[in-house]
Amino acid sequence: MSMDDSTDWVPLLVPDMPSPQTLLPWLERMHSARHYSNFGPLVRELESEFARRFTMPVDSLTTVSNATLGLELVLQALELAPKSRVLLPAFTFVATATAVIRAGHVPVLADVDPESWLLTPDIARAASADTRVDAVLPVATFGMPHDMQAWQRFEESTGLPVVIDAAAAYGSQWLQKAQGTLVFSLHTTKSLPAGEGGLVISTRPGLAARVRQMSNFGINLDPAVDLPIGTLASIGSNAKMSEYHAAIGLASLQVWEAHAQQRRLLHEQLVREVGRIGQHAGLGMTFQSSSSCGAPLIAPALLCARLPHEPARMKLERVCRDRQITTRRWYQPLLQDMPALRPHCEVLPTPEAEDLSHTLLGLPFFLNMTGEHRLRVLDAVAEWAKGSI
Ligand SMILES: *Cc1c(COP(=O)(O)O)cnc(C)c1O
Repeated sequence: MSMDDSTDWVPLLVPDMPSPQTLLPWLERMHSARHYSNFGPLVRELESEFARRFTMPVDSLTTVSNATLGLELVLQALELAPKSRVLLPAFTFVATATAVIRAGHVPVLADVDPESWLLTPDIARAASADTRVDAVLPVATFGMPHDMQAWQRFEESTGLPVVIDAAAAYGSQWLQKAQGTLVFSLHTTKSLPAGEGGLVISTRPGLAARVRQMSNFGINLDPAVDLPIGTLASIGSNAKMSEYHAAIGLASLQVWEAHAQQRRLLHEQLVREVGRIGQHAGLGMTFQSSSSCGAPLIAPALLCARLPHEPARMKLERVCRDRQITTRRWYQPLLQDMPALRPHCEVLPTPEAEDLSHTLLGLPFFLNMTGEHRLRVLDAVAEWAKGSI
C-alpha cells in the first residue's frame, strides 16, 4: 500500500462546488458592473435571498468573509466588558474558541449532551450557577440544530446574550420563530459552499448593522448618524464578502434543496447500514441524535460514528487505513487538550465531551459517493465487527 497511489483512497470529503460554467452568468454580471467587493449587487442579492428564506428583514443579517470573523465581530458588537467569560463547548472546532480570545474574552469550556453532542440550555444553566458566565456561544455540532425557543427562554431568564455558532448548520438551523443570533459558514466543506464566506443573522436590534460596519473596517457609511461619512466609528476589521464569493454562493443556493435532499438520503442510508453491522456484532455503534433538540438535521455534511470504547475506535481506524479509506477524528483533541489554547481557557468538568473524544470517528461522506465507495466503507465496518477487539 503506498500513499501516492491516491486514486485508490476513498476520500473523507469531496467539496460540492458549482462548476465554472455554472458561475459564468454571475461572473459576467459582476464584471459588467465593475463591482468586485464592498457590498456589490451580488452580495446584496445573496443577502436578499437569505432574508427571504429566514423571513427576516434584510437589515437583520449581513454576509461576512467567513464564520470565524463573523463570530469575532458579533462578540465585539455585543460590547461585553473586556475579559468577559464566554461559555462554549469543549467539543467544537478551534475557531469557536479563537474567535472569543481574539475578541478579548475568556473561553469557559463546558460539557455537551451525550445524545445530541450539543451544549444545551440545561448545561449552560448549571454551569452559570457554578461559575461566572457573561455570554454563551453554543455550537450546532456537525450541523445539528439547537432549540431556539429554549435558548430564547434562557436569554430571558438569565439576561445572558446567546450567539449560536451554526457554522456547519446552514439549512438545518433556523430561528424557529424565536429571538436569536446565528453565525453560518459558507466554507467549501459546509452545507452551502461559496469557497469562503459567512452569514450573521440576528433579531437583536442593530446587531447585524454593527457587524456589517465592523466588517468594513468600522467605517461609517450612514449619512443619518452624527459622524462624517468615511470616518471610523469603531475599531473593525476587513471581513467583507467579495462579489466572487457571492457569485458562488448564489450558484450553490440554486441547487441547495436538491443537494441537501441527496445528502440526507445518503446519510440515512449509511447510518442505517453501518449501524446495522455494528448492532449485529453486539457492539453498540451509535450516531448523533436530534432527540433532545427537537429539530431534524436537514443538510448533513459529514458522517460521524460513535464506537463503544477507545480500542474499538482504534481497530476501525486501523481496518480503514489498511483498506485505503480515509477517516478523521473530527473536533479532536478537545479544546483544553490543545497546548496553544489551554492557557487562554477555563475548563469546567467535561466527562461527556471526554468520552466523545475517545470514541468518535468520521467516515467518508460526500455527495456523489459511488456505490463502490459505499461498499468499501461497509465492508470495512463488517471486517471491524468480526472477531474480538
Ligand atoms: C467550520 C467551522 C467554523 C469556521 O468557519 P469558517 O467559515 O471556515 O471560518 C467555526 N465553527 C465551527 C463549529 C465550524 O464547524
